[in-house]
Amino acid sequence: MSKFWSPLVASLEPYVAGEQPAIPDLIKLNTNENPWGPSPRVLDAIRTAATDDLRLYPDPSATRLRQTLATYHGVSPDQVFVGNGSDEVLAFLFAGLLKHDAPLLYPDITYSFYPTYSRLFDINTRIIPLSDDFRIRPEDYAGPCGAIILPNPNAPTGIGLPLADISQLASTHADQVVAIDEAYVDFGGETAIPLVATHENVIVIRTFSKSRSLAGLRIGYAIAQRPLIEALEQMKDSFNSYPLDRLAQVAAIASIEDEAWFSSHRDRLIAIREDLTAKLEARGFEVLPSQANFVFARKPGFEGKTLATALRQRAVIVRHFARPRISDFLRITIGSEAECARLIAALDAIFESAN
Ligand SMILES: *Cc1c(COP(=O)(O)O)cnc(C)c1O
Repeated sequence: MSKFWSPLVASLEPYVAGEQPAIPDLIKLNTNENPWGPSPRVLDAIRTAATDDLRLYPDPSATRLRQTLATYHGVSPDQVFVGNGSDEVLAFLFAGLLKHDAPLLYPDITYSFYPTYSRLFDINTRIIPLSDDFRIRPEDYAGPCGAIILPNPNAPTGIGLPLADISQLASTHADQVVAIDEAYVDFGGETAIPLVATHENVIVIRTFSKSRSLAGLRIGYAIAQRPLIEALEQMKDSFNSYPLDRLAQVAAIASIEDEAWFSSHRDRLIAIREDLTAKLEARGFEVLPSQANFVFARKPGFEGKTLATALRQRAVIVRHFARPRISDFLRITIGSEAECARLIAALDAIFESAN
């Protein structure tokens, strides 16, 4: 606190990102980054673009990137909005489309940026509890509301909702925006992008940070019919005309163009997830069924915080949320085969010394 702070700054409760510590030989399974680098074609595109042209501003509307994404998803370029990470796209969405007199609905256990943005933009919210088995029940969202936002698959549970449920929700709330945050959908979820053609209220938010190994470049996007995209454009042009720099724009295009790299690494990650799930279950963990690049797991008889601390002492970091209902769970990012083997070895050592 300082006398120089505005009342707004003094009232904020910022999102706390997973830590990025400088521990040697660290196994970092706490922020859902991809264990492998992006396609070599992405790195080539960045090198080619690293010229004196960097003195010039980038294309403010990222025209070529939006065309590439439109072709990839079978929509038109004016139905695509791009931003500086999907967190920025979400910020514009909260302020521009989810703030109404009636409350915004989202789950009690979900992406923790949603409450942060709701406070920042002073949005009236109603929090809907997940079921006892940590699922989103679409029928719980039936009441009157101003808008709905859900991650699909949900985070940090990893559990996905079938497209039929999202479609039902979008039809029930035809006069409210239904926003689907698909940060993890590439790892086995069902995308709601096909609903955009038939539902003027559906908006889908995506990121290059997880499945495309580009968290370091900050690239996110949204797909919806024109009036919703226009709202995001108005927000962007009132905030920052150039959210995506030149390198990010060419890198994102190269990433989309290398489908073979993308799909082979996605498949390999899913295989590791299934293998890790089996190994955790064999050690007495309850693992929620994940369609994401992480698992959410607890071991009866062990406190989440104790386990996270013990793993950290063995240079393995995972995410622990000190929050009601989930404080005994660990959110474990799927690493490479070798990283997951180190995690399992560390757990075995911890359980050995506990006996
Ligand atoms: C990681 C994540 C994001 C943010 O992704 P960026 O594009 O890196 O900003 C958005 N939503 C959810 C649910 C996420 O887990």
